[in-house]
Amino acid sequence: MKIAEERRDLGWLRYTLDRPLAPGEATTLTYDLEYPPEGFTNSGARATVVDNGTFLNSGLLPVLGYQEQAELTRDLERKKHGLEPKAHLMPDLDDKVHQQRNYISADGDWIDFEAVVSTEPDQIALAPGYLQREWTENGRRYFHYKMDVPILHFTSFLSARWAVKKGEWRGESGAVPIEIYYQPGHEYNVDTMITGVKDSLDYFTRAFSPYQHKQVRILEFPRYASFAQSFPNTIPFSESIGFIAKVKPNDPKDIDYPYYVTAHEVAHQWWAHQVIGAYVQGATMMSETLAQYSALMVMKKKYGDAKMKRFLKYELDNYLQGRAIERKQEQPLYRNENQPYIHYRKGSLAMYALQDYIGEDNVNKALASYIKKVAYKGPPYTTSRDLLAEFRAVTPPEYQYLIEDLFETITIYENRAVSATYAPKDGKFEVRLKVSAKKLRAKDAGALDEVKMDDLVDIGVLGPDDKPLYLEKKRVKSGESEFTIVVNEEPVRAGIDPVVKLVDRRPDDNTIPVTKQ
Ligand SMILES: [Zn+2]
Repeated sequence: MKIAEERRDLGWLRYTLDRPLAPGEATTLTYDLEYPPEGFTNSGARATVVDNGTFLNSGLLPVLGYQEQAELTRDLERKKHGLEPKAHLMPDLDDKVHQQRNYISADGDWIDFEAVVSTEPDQIALAPGYLQREWTENGRRYFHYKMDVPILHFTSFLSARWAVKKGEWRGESGAVPIEIYYQPGHEYNVDTMITGVKDSLDYFTRAFSPYQHKQVRILEFPRYASFAQSFPNTIPFSESIGFIAKVKPNDPKDIDYPYYVTAHEVAHQWWAHQVIGAYVQGATMMSETLAQYSALMVMKKKYGDAKMKRFLKYELDNYLQGRAIERKQEQPLYRNENQPYIHYRKGSLAMYALQDYIGEDNVNKALASYIKKVAYKGPPYTTSRDLLAEFRAVTPPEYQYLIEDLFETITIYENRAVSATYAPKDGKFEVRLKVSAKKLRAKDAGALDEVKMDDLVDIGVLGPDDKPLYLEKKRVKSGESEFTIVVNEEPVRAGIDPVVKLVDRRPDDNTIPVTKQ
């Protein structure tokens, strides 16, 4: 193999093989890689390889072929280099060429994986797969991992002085060991994480498909970064988004995010590691949006529908902020271009609304059918069109409009409560509620136009602590509507879409206090 062209300043090399590789033929690529610190930078030291808590993923390893994702995206930066602005951050949904690769890696489909990793003698080194052997040699500790099923070309390597807490989940196909690798002293939420893994495996194996691995590992890494990331059977998890969290179990407003993040990451073992989208618009709907949905369902099961409002409100606020600062034109969910405010935030809202309208069982039926068709599928990879077809198939006729509203367009409501009074009646309480409704939709240029509304929307009367005394879907048309509702307990607030299941520009005015007549 010879170097044919090189740009060391860009870390780019082009090689030619001594003899061309025939289709289907294999060869070995051997390389040495060093990742040394290079002096002091303005933005601080690189925190990938550290004394205790190294975490690097396969993104640092050499990649083959042209890497479209590495292109400059900001208009200003591109201009500096004499490049035209990019209208889109991902190839078009229907681009057949880019459907030949998945959005995680350009140079690998489903791969076989095996790794030998060495580290300091007092640390554990981890990579996806199962431990085959461990030994010490020349003062270093070695670990040999091997995966028994094909995985995405997306792997991680970690090393730290961890303590390990073990748990176990028992499913229909036997026991799955759970291991939490944590910094001694950070025990706070380790049991919550084990419970989170168990609850998730319970739900996902029943609703979607079997778990493809024989073990689940969560690995703490230092809070130089604050995210968790799911690799096959291996979930690196920052100390700052779970391990050192203080969750107040009796505070109804606190979100148990160590539990929630655990559920989201375990869900990626299905949504990414079983079903992976093509490298086209909408790809992250099949990973991030479905992982959000899965985690929301695990939370709903634990906390109940009424308690989800705080979470949905958080998602809504973040979606509205995100769309306000979008530099390109906002895309609907099924064409999102890997924007977190769309695939996580709007994704949660859309999926929560879908299951609320058509039923959780129906959504899960669609997802199970989808997984059956496309799990571990190679090129051409699946797209959001396939997923929406599954949703359509389980959606009753009166709710078909939701697929368009939630996924295919940018549809936003301006619903609000106008007036609410009550009077005692036969030992009960009669509430007279007036609401105003408006439905808007983004046109091609992004501006919102009002569209005719004749939709099913929650009408609710709430008691103390927002306890729903009445919550039912009613047909609501554009403009003002009136409802008379009888409830058994004294009402406190009433309004339209009180749990904020729809994307509403001003969710705070959806309910108002109910005054005694
Ligand atoms: Zn995720």
